[in-house]
Amino acid sequence: MGKVIVVGSLNVDSIVTVERHPRPGETLIGGDLQTMFGGKGANQAVAAAMAAAQVSMIGRVGDDAMGEQYIARLAAFDIDVDEVRVDPSSPTGHAAIAVAADGENTIIVSPGANGRVSVDDLGSLDDLSEGDVVLLQLELSIDVVEDAARRAAAAGARVVLNLAPYADVSEDVLSLADPVIVNEHEAQLMRAAGRDPRSVLITLGADGASWGDISVPADRVDEVVDTTGAGDSFCGTLAARLAAGEHREAAMRAAAAAAAVSVGWPGAQPSEP
Ligand code: ADP
Repeated sequence: MGKVIVVGSLNVDSIVTVERHPRPGETLIGGDLQTMFGGKGANQAVAAAMAAAQVSMIGRVGDDAMGEQYIARLAAFDIDVDEVRVDPSSPTGHAAIAVAADGENTIIVSPGANGRVSVDDLGSLDDLSEGDVVLLQLELSIDVVEDAARRAAAAGARVVLNLAPYADVSEDVLSLADPVIVNEHEAQLMRAAGRDPRSVLITLGADGASWGDISVPADRVDEVVDTTGAGDSFCGTLAARLAAGEHREAAMRAAAAAAAVSVGWPGAQPSEP
């Protein structure tokens, strides 16, 4: 059984509900502040740990209270945090999120320590073995993501690359991933950029997901509470199941089931391990 190594972001999400979004220059009064743990990297690491994988995380937090709390939180999920560095020079990554009454979000991401993750943090990727899965998203600098993919592939590990939020990644790196994971919006941007990777898994919201000739339906959800993080639950669970040696279709079904559960809780991660 392989390990899952997530190289990615750790953010604290600050969420305020508003009647409508403010116009430039305007001040609005919103609801009570909700603070939640997020960042696609850590969200996916938590999902993989919940799917029973042995998970380690590579990333950075700031030398502040939120960073310390975040590391403790990941450790409580049995995630190996030895390579989550405390960066002395920048704060923990943060996302300021306004949720309007119509459900539309506006989000400002302040990468903070995530932006300091460098290729020097990736040394352990050279010691992976076949069967290990390296799970990547695009909330770190593209250079770091590309280097991580190349090292992981050179070591014989499987690369799973979630192209979110969408950015143009070089063709050779896309061709290393098995699969590249995109939602419908990212799939459109990828096609518009002329990219056509060999292995692409598309998530289709309430319509499920497809990967080559395999399609799986979404699980039925009685009450949709918050779809934030559905994609992250999907990616983390898929990586865990592939690391466990499952075939593509079984891994996708498990991923869809986990994503459906995640739409039933607020925010991107469950509140308790
Ligand atoms: P993202 O959250 O990245 O935009 P999607 O919206 O495609 O990604 O959702 C990812 C996965 O989450 C889907 O493939 C599906 O399995 C599951 N999912 C999303 N929305 C729902 C829903 N309303 N009901 C059930 N499953 C859902």
